[in-house]
Amino acid sequence: MKGGEKKNYDVIIVGGGPGGLTAGLYASRARLGTLLIESALFGGQMTTTELVENYPGFPEGVTGDELSRLMEEQAKKFGMETVTQEVVKVSLEGDAKVVQTYESTYRCEALIISTGTEYRKLGVPGEKEFAGKGVSYCATCDGAFFRDSQIVVVGGGDSALTEALFLTKFAKELTIIHRRDALRGTKIYQERALANPKIKFLWNSIVQEIKGDSMVRSIIVKNVKTGEINELKTEGAFLFVGLVPRTQFLKGVVQMDEGGYILTNEHCETSAKGIYAVGDCRKKLLRQIATAVGDGATAAFAAEKFLELKE
Ligand SMILES: Cc1cc2nc3c(=O)[nH]c(=O)nc-3n(C[C@H](O)[C@H](O)[C@H](O)COP(=O)(O)OP(=O)(O)OC[C@H]3O[C@@H](n4cnc5c(N)ncnc54)[C@H](O)[C@@H]3O)c2cc1C
Repeated sequence: MKGGEKKNYDVIIVGGGPGGLTAGLYASRARLGTLLIESALFGGQMTTTELVENYPGFPEGVTGDELSRLMEEQAKKFGMETVTQEVVKVSLEGDAKVVQTYESTYRCEALIISTGTEYRKLGVPGEKEFAGKGVSYCATCDGAFFRDSQIVVVGGGDSALTEALFLTKFAKELTIIHRRDALRGTKIYQERALANPKIKFLWNSIVQEIKGDSMVRSIIVKNVKTGEINELKTEGAFLFVGLVPRTQFLKGVVQMDEGGYILTNEHCETSAKGIYAVGDCRKKLLRQIATAVGDGATAAFAAEKFLELKE
């Protein structure tokens, strides 16, 4: 399709993580003309998760890659179309929703947003400069480059703990740097991290700078209680200090909270008629694969009912 050309669908889904893939499965199985637009990999954040232990149906756990592959295969089985493009703008033309990517423009009656979140940046000197040269936001992607290394993980939540535990497969020694004096992740991950002999903790500490030459060599850390500043030798810095929703392109189209999470009701309906939000990008209590999947099914069903009423 050429730049300005518009193609019509009943339903367009933006984002192909577990939420989007489930919405796609339900919508295409309901015989709705469905397009899923994904900017990177089908599976979303699951593709960067080594082992998923809490998704029902897999008592031994399942790798994120395998779960992604299975969900993609199942979603595509019922005729859902897909494109690999990034959505940059959504606008309304009467009842129709116009979805723009860099390459094309699409129209639909019902739009499901499932763009998830991305890692918050620390915003310290050296972070940008050493990204891919020792600074990483993905243990599954980059862990193997740090075999027998001394590395740090920054953060104290679930992502930091699961990624740190995974990284102990490669690293010689790993220090978790956390700004508080206690972890805030799920108990089972806390127990595993605290019991792991390769993991050390640096409490009440924040990173002020990442330093190096062609690669990361050290980080400057400040103790927030005492004000003491230290330079710590390290070969890698894995940063997991929270997530931000990928909803910038929807500003002014649907209501969001102050953090950019989309506000919905229990049917995943947003403030704009015919636009739904599912998974991690919406304001909700628990951001997990199981809840994203539930949202995807709900939104696709709600969209189907919405389209029926329009006829
Ligand atoms: C390290 C880590 C470990 C985790 N471990 C677990 C676990 O063990 N169990 C569990 O249940 N959950 C786990 N989670 C959480 C789980 O991965 C998420 O809750 C889930 O993936 C959310 O699904 P989603 O569909 O909402 O979004 P995502 O999986 O984030 O997918 C969103 C997709 O949208 C795409 N996208 C974004 N913007 C655009 C755009 N503008 N145009 C087109 N495409 C776009 C992205 O490329 C991405 O593929 C983990 C998360 C992390 C980070």
